[in-house]
Amino acid sequence: MTESKEFRQEVRDWLAANCPESMRSPYRSEADVCWGGRDFQFQSEDQRVWLERMAARGWTAPSWPKEYGGGGLGRIQAKILKEELARIHARPPLMSFGISMLGPALLKFGSEELKQLHLPPAIRGEIRWAQGYSEPNAGSDLASLQARCEDMGDHFLVNGSKVWTSYGDLGDWMFCLVRTDSRAKKHEGISFVMFDMATAGVSTRPIGLISGKSPFTETFFENVRVEKDQVIGELNQGWTVAKYLLTHEREMIAGSGALSAGSKPVGKTAAHLLGTDNGTLHDTALRADIARFEMDERCLELTIERARDEVKAGVSLGAVSSIFKYYGTELNKRRQELMMAIRGNDALVWEGGDSRDGYLPKSWLRSKGNSIEGGTSEIQLNIVAKRILGLPG
Ligand SMILES: Cc1cc2nc3c(=O)[nH]c(=O)nc-3n(C[C@H](O)[C@H](O)[C@H](O)COP(=O)(O)OP(=O)(O)OC[C@H]3O[C@@H](n4cnc5c(N)ncnc54)[C@H](O)[C@@H]3O)c2cc1C
Repeated sequence: MTESKEFRQEVRDWLAANCPESMRSPYRSEADVCWGGRDFQFQSEDQRVWLERMAARGWTAPSWPKEYGGGGLGRIQAKILKEELARIHARPPLMSFGISMLGPALLKFGSEELKQLHLPPAIRGEIRWAQGYSEPNAGSDLASLQARCEDMGDHFLVNGSKVWTSYGDLGDWMFCLVRTDSRAKKHEGISFVMFDMATAGVSTRPIGLISGKSPFTETFFENVRVEKDQVIGELNQGWTVAKYLLTHEREMIAGSGALSAGSKPVGKTAAHLLGTDNGTLHDTALRADIARFEMDERCLELTIERARDEVKAGVSLGAVSSIFKYYGTELNKRRQELMMAIRGNDALVWEGGDSRDGYLPKSWLRSKGNSIEGGTSEIQLNIVAKRILGLPG
């Protein structure tokens, strides 16, 4: 047996013994997603155990170094793990901005102390992170941010506000962009700081949405004390860290089928629900749309894999993440449209009891935000035009 085959067998056996049966099915609602954190209420004992077991192996962050609690897997092994999880329709044990966004920035720019302090709890799902980037007048033009951070000698004081903070009311810690030098050029006076959201002076206010429930808050800072050792990278050089983090955020959002993780491929779902004639769907138009979608999805997957190989070889992902973000979010929107078409009238069910019905229309509506969060599609196209195609600005 080759090494990969042995590893696949090991993973398969381990998952068979350790992935609870109820964790081997698609999410039925947003409440099924495990975000972890100090106050997280597990939906079930299975959900808690699944996180605990995966975290103990470091498989909530499979390719991070073992010294911080990660899985230490190489690229091929990480891919095998992903495939084996998909094979049994396993739910992700943890959704975490600490892992998908902050972690890569900490690994690249953080001091050893900061890595030791923040990475292991993120891997175990003990701390839930919120992202403090956008402000009322700094979204697409993020470098215009104004949240002020003053040097008070032995600590900093932060004043200002953020907006569109996803789950800001549920965050334990925040990674945050602040202005530390208001006289410098706008990209040069920014620092990347972290603080506990329970610190005095941090408050959040929910932002109501037309659909009712909203994951967003406005987040306010009034004389918030930030320790001086909670800065990633050099003071006033936070823009470099911020941009690097964004490439990972964009890659994560590009794969934002993530919320449909554990579900069957679109074609198989259609065949299962609509029935086939010798393996062929009756509706030829739908069949063609699904075939086109699945081919495009495969092409994106392969392109992302190639890019990851290049990253392993030392090439920076950089602006290429904008292609993935743009294309991946368009694909996810197409996926959601197809799923709605396949379910027909059932797709209109809003509250779905025990089934996946009810989650689908919410998931479809949620996908509309994919092309805004992490930088809008227009901004990604601007980046591709300027930094990849070299077109004049
Ligand atoms: C689901 C979701 C989750 C989010 N979560 C977070 C979070 O956790 N933390 C956080 O900090 N932020 C978060 N955001 C905010 C997000 O990053 C911003 O909404 C985004 O960067 C756009 O900024 P804006 O809303 O201010 O829009 P604006 O920047 O005001 O843009 C408005 C419109 O103008 C277009 N536009 C602007 N500038 C240009 C240009 N130069 N060329 C062409 N078109 C342009 C934009 O594409 C857009 O269509 C989230 C947003 C969403 C939708």
